[in-house]
Amino acid sequence: MADADSTDTAPVLTAEALTAGYNGVVAVADVNLSVAAGEVLSILGPNGAGKTTTLLSLAGVLPTMSGQVTVLGRPVDSSRPYRMARRGMRFVPDDRGLFPSMTVREHLRLARRRPDQRREQAVLERFPALAKLRSRTVGLLSGGEQQMLAISVALLAEPRLLMVDEMSLGLAPMVVEQMLPAIRDLARAEGIGVVLVEQHVGLALAVSDRALVLNHGRVVLEGKADALLRERDRVESAYFGAGEFADEERDSERA
Ligand code: ATP
Repeated sequence: MADADSTDTAPVLTAEALTAGYNGVVAVADVNLSVAAGEVLSILGPNGAGKTTTLLSLAGVLPTMSGQVTVLGRPVDSSRPYRMARRGMRFVPDDRGLFPSMTVREHLRLARRRPDQRREQAVLERFPALAKLRSRTVGLLSGGEQQMLAISVALLAEPRLLMVDEMSLGLAPMVVEQMLPAIRDLARAEGIGVVLVEQHVGLALAVSDRALVLNHGRVVLEGKADALLRERDRVESAYFGAGEFADEERDSERA
């Protein structure tokens, strides 16, 4: 569990002029952000905006093309992502990164940093549905249960920085409504910096401290989440832009 000490005020993650892409083609440019201990930052934006690319670069999975990313006080070295993991960074990819033939119990046992089970009990208290499924293999879990397990596995490692890509992908809004506050509460209680990539704008803003909206690989809006929640029109115009499909996309987001 993270100690509440003076390091809690230092950012656990910063990006300065982060530019990243694939095969020499820029997908996100000039992204600046910072996340403090205990703070939740949401990265929002439409499909193809560059959210996952940004997250992959922040996590050191994708090398940056230029700019600087600092994780837990050290520059990110994408050739050695395990070093960031050792320092307390956990990344939950959108495919959840689980092993279908292994049981819930086996995943939890592998993820535990200490032999005692107190941490596991504390994490599973946040996800009681999962606690009843310890002997089930992951392939037989629902999408929501798998996501609970992926988040639990990350939290068992006692992270100081947690990055979650599209947690809500394929999940019923009701499940997301339970899980996002659980992550936010743990972040606050334990001083974990959290970055969420989300498509559910309202739900994400409701649990975040700050948010930024990416569109076409650029940050087009950023601010405090509560202010952005009150100014949904600004968020929507940043999110959807002035495209011919804007109304259609907005309607599907609201549905
Ligand atoms: P979504 O919400 O649909 O997942 P996103 O905001 O996460 O979208 P990214 O996946 O970061 O967007 O994609 C940003 C841009 O980079 C898109 O134009 C996408 O086509 C491109 N891209 C993503 N992955 C690759 C890749 N492996 N190779 C080449 N281009 C890629």
